[in-house]
Amino acid sequence: MPIIRLDNLSKRYPLPDNKKASFLAVDSVSLEIDAGEIFGILGPNGAGKTTTLEMLEGLNDIDGGSASIDGIDVQKNPFAVKKLIGVQLQANEYFDNLSLVELLTLFGALYEREIDALALLDKVNLREKASAKPDNLSGGQKQRFSIACALVNEPKVLFLDEPTTGLDPQAKRNLWDLVRELNGAGMTIVLTTHNMEEAEVLCQRIAIMDHGRIIAQGTPAELIQTHAPEPPAAPLHGNLEDVFLALTGHGLRD
Ligand code: ADP
Repeated sequence: MPIIRLDNLSKRYPLPDNKKASFLAVDSVSLEIDAGEIFGILGPNGAGKTTTLEMLEGLNDIDGGSASIDGIDVQKNPFAVKKLIGVQLQANEYFDNLSLVELLTLFGALYEREIDALALLDKVNLREKASAKPDNLSGGQKQRFSIACALVNEPKVLFLDEPTTGLDPQAKRNLWDLVRELNGAGMTIVLTTHNMEEAEVLCQRIAIMDHGRIIAQGTPAELIQTHAPEPPAAPLHGNLEDVFLALTGHGLRD
C-alpha cells in the first residue's frame, strides 16, 4: 500500500546566471512509496533530490502537481502532515548550551509531547552522551542525534537527506544499522543519497533521479538486471553505478 504519492510534482527555480529565466529543478515527478519500505532517491548533486524531499516535508512550496502522505495532501494540509513525519536535516544547528537530553525534551515540548529522552538516546546508541553538548559529538554521533530529534513525534515516515555523507565507514555502517532497526519496527524511511553502495545495501526500492526527473525505478536487483551492461551470462552483473551510466551516459560523481 503506498503511503506516499507524488503526482507530477514540480519545482521551478531561477537560473543562477539569468534571474529572469527559470528551470525545473524537479520536473513532473510521479512516484509511489509503500508503507514500511526503505526507499532511496539516488542521483548526483543537483539532480533535485533535496528539493523533492523539501516539498514532501512542507519546507518548500510546490509549483506544480501534488503530493500526499498517508492520504493527506501536503500542500493543503501541511500541519497534519508534519505530525506524521520526522525530518532529519542536512545541517543541524542546536542551541549551544543545552545537553542532548535537554534538547530532546525541548523538541518534544514543541510537539506538545512528554518524551522519554533517555529511551530515545538508547535507540540511537547515545545514552552515554546524555549530558554532552552536540558540539562535542563526532560526525556519526551528530547524525544519530539528529535522527533522535526527528523521532520525538513518533513519525510514521522518516525523511533522511544524505544521512551518511562525510561519515567514516564504521559510522556509516552504524547509521545503516539504525535505519534498518527503525524500519524493522515498521517505519517507512525515505532517504536521498549519491552513494550507490548505500542505495544497494539499504534500500528495498530505488528511484534514480537526474536533471529533475526520475529516469528509472525498481529494486536494486531489478535495476541491475535491466540496465547494467554485459556480461549477460552472470545472473546479476554490474552495479548501480553501471545502471546510472547506462541510463545517463555520465557517472554519479560527474
Ligand atoms: P540534489 O539534492 O539532488 O543535490 P537539489 O534539490 O539540492 O539537488 O538542487 C536541484 C537544483 O536546484 C540544483 O541545480 C540547485 O542548484 C538548484 N537549487 C536548489 N535550491 C535552490 C534555490 N533555493 N534557488 C535556486 N536554485 C536552487
